[in-house]
Amino acid sequence: MKSNEIESDIPKKCPKCGSELKERTGKYGKFIGCTKFPECRYTYDLGKQIKVLCPKCGKKLKIRKGRYGSFISCSGYPECKFTFNPEFGEQEQIFCPECGKLLIINTGKDGKFVGCTGFPDCKFTFDLRD
Ligand SMILES: [Zn+2]
Ligand SMILES: [Zn+2]
Ligand SMILES: [Zn+2]
Repeated sequence: MKSNEIESDIPKKCPKCGSELKERTGKYGKFIGCTKFPECRYTYDLGKQIKVLCPKCGKKLKIRKGRYGSFISCSGYPECKFTFNPEFGEQEQIFCPECGKLLIINTGKDGKFVGCTGFPDCKFTFDLRD
């Protein structure tokens, strides 16, 4: 991860118990977990935050890297289990933060990206790669 991608809101200490936090890798990609685990289950997901909001809880969505490639999940995880995985078909719907239209997965020459169905009027897009 390049330094300019590190989010400013990453906590330095566990907000639940004040212990040190440690970077870990789980089945949904990298995250920061409390060193007091399993007594304290605080985790902070290190995925790349995107401008799109979760249709279930309204928190920001993140791009995370899973075993089968990148996918989108809610920054409210694990409280909110919303995920949008292009590899498993689009059972869930996410909407453009600029015009409110449906966002869809497209495949370009550099890989998968998400684009707005309002294109070309709306140019909102983001990359699904790292
Ligand atoms: Zn803790
Ligand atoms: Zn959510
Ligand atoms: Zn749009």
